[in-house]
Amino acid sequence: MERLISPRITKEVVQKYGFKFSKSLGQNFLIDENILNKIIDGASVTKEDYVIEVGPGIGTLTQALADQAKEVVAVEIDKSLLPILAETLGPWENVSVVNADVLKLDLHELIQEKFGGAPVKVIANLPYYVTTPIIMKFLEERVPLKNMVVMIQKEVADRMQAKPGTKDYGALSVAVQYYCEPKIITRVPPSAFIPQPNVESTVIRLTLLESPRVKVKEEEILFQVVRAAFGKRRKTLLNALSSSDLGVGKEQVKDALTKAKIEENRRGETLTIEEFGILADAVAEVKS
Ligand code: SAM
Repeated sequence: MERLISPRITKEVVQKYGFKFSKSLGQNFLIDENILNKIIDGASVTKEDYVIEVGPGIGTLTQALADQAKEVVAVEIDKSLLPILAETLGPWENVSVVNADVLKLDLHELIQEKFGGAPVKVIANLPYYVTTPIIMKFLEERVPLKNMVVMIQKEVADRMQAKPGTKDYGALSVAVQYYCEPKIITRVPPSAFIPQPNVESTVIRLTLLESPRVKVKEEEILFQVVRAAFGKRRKTLLNALSSSDLGVGKEQVKDALTKAKIEENRRGETLTIEEFGILADAVAEVKS
């Protein structure tokens, strides 16, 4: 089987099967070998690794993963790609394709069934309309993960790795950095895909921390505080938190900020994750 990673072979396969690209499913297929290698190297894939790929498309990245990994499970929503994948992945016995919407899958069950519950690497050129929900599903459901190396829109990657006090820092930065250490691997121009997307892309690696970056009494309160703090970006923490659905009044927020030793006129975007953790515990205390 010839490798798919070239514009010529990708076009040939697409034509042979009369495949129609679906914009709404985020179908932009990779045709740049240099980027493909950076994804594989970025995830340090070895023969010990179990890999989940989300959205194999015609199988371009899947072929390379199958060469390097122990086993690969590729989850593809689009039925019309199944006959193509049967051909392009035919020679590899360590790959299986699951026809499903990854957002509806029981990931723990999948990993148990396919890999005996062993930790996995998630490697994917993600469909851009659902990058954040897919990544957050793997993190929030506490799927056993080693790392995730994913191609996503540049703006989203920038937000994931942003530091406090920068314009990109927001609820997504805190959510991702709570679980992971993010690192940008490479920027990717639209010309690396067929058809070309309208946006710039980035390959980012999210390495799972052994335990979340901060230990809090109640995780739900942490994320409520984060959402409230960034929901009203131009407001001070005092105003943002007391006018949110956190269920605490101004006096209680003042009390919590004092306990956390955080000035009440600071804004959410200046707080580190550690400070959010301390504040969440103080809010939990004044609420109880
Ligand atoms: N991996 C291929 C490549 O790099 O050339 C294709 C990547 S393309 C950006 C995204 C793929 O995800 C498409 O094949 C699309 O059909 C699939 N997809 C879209 N939404 C999905 C979902 N909710 N669950 C699983 N796959 C999905």
